[in-house]
Amino acid sequence: MKKYRVRADAKIELKDFSPDDKSEFDGDKNQAKTALDELTDELDDLQERLYAESKRAVLIVIQAMDTGGKDGTIRKVFGNINPQGCRVTSFKAPTSTELAHDYLWRVHAALPRRGEIGVFNRSHYEDVLVVRVHNLVPKEIWEKRYEHINAFEKMLSDEGTTIVKFFLHISKEEQAKRLQERIDTPDKHWKFNPNDLKERALWNEYQHAYQDVLNKTSTDHAPWYIIPANRKWYRNLVVARIARDTLKHLNPKFPEANVDFSKIVIK
Ligand code: AMP
Ligand code: MG
Repeated sequence: MKKYRVRADAKIELKDFSPDDKSEFDGDKNQAKTALDELTDELDDLQERLYAESKRAVLIVIQAMDTGGKDGTIRKVFGNINPQGCRVTSFKAPTSTELAHDYLWRVHAALPRRGEIGVFNRSHYEDVLVVRVHNLVPKEIWEKRYEHINAFEKMLSDEGTTIVKFFLHISKEEQAKRLQERIDTPDKHWKFNPNDLKERALWNEYQHAYQDVLNKTSTDHAPWYIIPANRKWYRNLVVARIARDTLKHLNPKFPEANVDFSKIVIK
């Protein structure tokens, strides 16, 4: 999965990453489903150990253009984890209370506790994406945020939170298909937001803002992965593998019992 990781010293261009790539899996869609089931079982098992150990936390950040598949990825990849140990937070436009604080305030409050996996559906990165593209604050303000974010994530990492960030990369054509599908399918109407069309018109500005995020904030302690996301099954598989590998690397262990079980008799 290394090929999808943005190296800390790299200078990437998004156009060099194909949203259609599926080179890391040989099988077809059905085989991918079986592989995903195995991975999500493994994730559930690893998360139980993380929870029992209660010493470290994992933060998964998911960002994408509209229709990029954030909701679907969370459901399919993290939906099998015990909800007691997994906390999903969706970041919307900030409320007046949130706006009365610095932009990291609401993020800090939503972080996973030790033993938990936290999944962010959108995140503090919106503060250098939508905020930048729509000039919601002046450039002098947002351009300093990459540095804040890197320092914030370094602090979290030093204090025991492992961070992995996914950019679900779709093409503009794929977005058109998915928006059309939302219009054509009554059960998907609720997902259609007329505002998405205005955002789509800013496609190039967003790609540019994403490219800056990927180049400025992929670090050794909090790497970005660019996930080919035109095929949902491939996207899920790659995200699940990286999440599994991350947890496996942490190697969480059930704590040693401090009770002599040989002396206990249940009557
Ligand atoms: P959705 O993910 O479709 O529910 O939409 C959430 C909306 O909240 C998107 O339009 C985001 O751009 C917006 N949003 C999230 N974070 C921020 C932020 N920090 N500032 C402004 N808008 C935001
Ligand atoms: Mg939306």
